[in-house]
This record gives sequence, C-alpha cells and structure tokens, in this order.
Amino acid sequence: MITNQNAFLLDMDGVIYRDDHVIPGAERLIELFQKKDIPFLFLTNNSMPTAEDLAVKLKHLGFKNLHPRHFYTSAINTAEFLRETHPNCTAYVLGEGGLISALQEAKIPNDSISPHYVVVGEGSPSMDKIAKAHELIERGARLVVTNPDCWCPSGGNKTRPGAGALAAFLQTSTGQRPYYLGKPNPYMFTRAQRRLMASYSQARDVIMVGDTMETDIRGAVEIGIQAYLVLTGSTALGDLADYVYQPTRVLGSVADLLEEVETGKQSDRLSSPAFQPPPKLDGVIKKKRYATA
Ligand SMILES: [Mg+2]
Repeated sequence: MITNQNAFLLDMDGVIYRDDHVIPGAERLIELFQKKDIPFLFLTNNSMPTAEDLAVKLKHLGFKNLHPRHFYTSAINTAEFLRETHPNCTAYVLGEGGLISALQEAKIPNDSISPHYVVVGEGSPSMDKIAKAHELIERGARLVVTNPDCWCPSGGNKTRPGAGALAAFLQTSTGQRPYYLGKPNPYMFTRAQRRLMASYSQARDVIMVGDTMETDIRGAVEIGIQAYLVLTGSTALGDLADYVYQPTRVLGSVADLLEEVETGKQSDRLSSPAFQPPPKLDGVIKKKRYATA
C-alpha cells in the first residue's frame, strides 16, 4: 500500500518520458504525489542538464509545479562526492553545463595544469580535450566519471555514446581504472534518500522506480530499498532471467501506480500489469543491451 510514509525516487528517461513523449499517466502520478504530500525526487544519470534545465523541460512537457529541488543528477552527486571526500581539490572537466555548474557550486575550480581529478560526464568533447585529459591522467590526475552508462538515448530512435564510453577510451589509453558516481553507486542513492528525508521527515519507506536493471534496480536492491521496474524503457520482461537481483515489482508503466496512490488500496501482485503490453510510444528506442566499461 502506498501512503505518505512512502517516498519515491523516480528515474526520468524511460519512466516518465522518452525523448519528448510523456509516458501516459506520468503527469497524473506527479499531481497525485503533490496532492497527497507523497515525497518524490527525480534521479537521473544524465549529467548534461542542470536541475533548472530539467525543471524547464518537464514544464514544457506539461508537468506542473516542479522546481529544481525536485531533481538530483549524477553531476550534482559527483560534485558532492568530490567536495566531501577531497576538500579543496581541483578538476579538469570533460562535460557540459550540468556538470560544470555542479562543480562550480561545490567550489571545485577548473584546472588544466595540475588537477587532482579528470572528471568525465556526458557530452561530445573535441579530440584535443580528450588528449588533454589523457595527458593529465598520465601526469597523475585520477579519473572520475559521473555515471557508467555507455550509451544514452538521443531522440528519434537513436543513441549516442555516454560518459561510460568516454571513460573506457581514457581507461584504455592511460591504463587507469575510472571511479563511477551516479546510479548504481550507493553514494547516489544514499545522498538522494538524505535529500528526501531532509525535506520530508515522515518518509520512511523509499521506493525506486526505474527502467534499467543495471543502474536503477541494482542500486536500489544493493542499498535495501524497494525497486519497481517499469517496462517503458530499456528492459523487457524476458530480460529479467538474466539477472541475479530482481525488482520488488514489475509494472507495465507508471500508470499502473495511479489507482494504488489514489485509493491507497494495494494492487494484486498476481494481476501484475507487467503481463500486459506496455503503452505504445513513438520514437521509443528498441531494447539495447546495456554495457558498462
Ligand atoms: Mg531510464
């Protein structure tokens, strides 16, 4: 049963939208969370946008009353990790606005001469910048990556290389093993949980809702919170047998939570909507095997 003792961590791509298509029921679910005072936080491995960018994107997609505080990205998680574990460190950055502004907010200076870290996020850096990162790692900088995803959806049924792929390139060229923040690193989940608890002290039972087994579900299982898998993204029902860890529940889409959140009555697990086909969406990327470096 879902009550305001629950709190939700929600992945974004593949859970509430794909490209610019909202997954049916997602807007209503967020409305219900707000109406019933159920805490929620969007949790994304995409380190390109800032929390402000994501709030604007969702506003344009039709979601109401969302603020930057509702979003926690792997870029913010990486900046928090560096600030906490290595005060006064410096970094050379391969990444976009979301990562650059998160590091600035954490007061981590950009350093292209002798940084403690090369920090890699999503983006399309030039070969010159990649060569510079290689050189700095060879001279002693450590390699930190915002998230392990090797590919990301880029719209129109296409994908592009992700931060994990760029990290694999630098690992191959320098021999240094990267350290990954973001999901499924428990640091991402525990920080996100702490944010939820800081704003909503009544939240006790946290539920992660995600579409990717290797990040959303694995991270949730490993820190001991509930993990709901939705089938509107990168995982098909038939893939589940490939994994040692399993989701707590499997849902066709977030729409399957609406009745339970609205009425407070628990759905029958045996009539799990997972066994119904997920809603059809234009531009949804066909299932692609996840691969980490
Ligand atoms: Mg996703």
